[in-house]
Amino acid sequence: MKLDLREIASNVGKSYNYEIREECAESEDLRCTKPIVGSINFTNTGNLIVARGKLETEIELECSRCLEKLTIPVNVKIDEQLPIPVFQTAFVEQEDVDEEEEEPLFRDNVFDLSEYIRQVVLVEVPIQPLCSDTCKGLCPTCGTNLNQGLCNCPVDVEASPFAALASMLEEEDTEEKE
Ligand SMILES: [Zn+2]
Ligand SMILES: [Zn+2]
Repeated sequence: MKLDLREIASNVGKSYNYEIREECAESEDLRCTKPIVGSINFTNTGNLIVARGKLETEIELECSRCLEKLTIPVNVKIDEQLPIPVFQTAFVEQEDVDEEEEEPLFRDNVFDLSEYIRQVVLVEVPIQPLCSDTCKGLCPTCGTNLNQGLCNCPVDVEASPFAALASMLEEEDTEEKE
């Protein structure tokens, strides 16, 4: 969704509420399991449009230990300032505008809400998501998901630091052979 804020940009003090309801754009780095809902208010404060609001959704991730799918709720507070291009009128040739100076999400008084949402939700994605703080992960030897039950591998591997070291060295050996 791209919002045309031209009318707000040209009227100091003018304010506009927008109810957010978007399907998540599926991409490699982001998968939502719920629509993105929320609200955002745009207010012209003079030389800025202040955007405030909130949105929420739920995203699907993979546990970094056991690789099972998990969903986490995402709540984002929106607090942005969009500079109003002062000399930008219908009569100004757009070629004259310094492209690099422009805010890419807010161009020609049009706010790219979908792209903005994608970016703020992405920021909320944890680097190492966990299905649970107590996730036991996968057995390093056989790959069994240890949350679902024990495997037949020796259980004292973690108990003894020497055994753990030995298994680490073993892993390195197999990696080198590959
Ligand atoms: Zn897990
Ligand atoms: Zn195992």
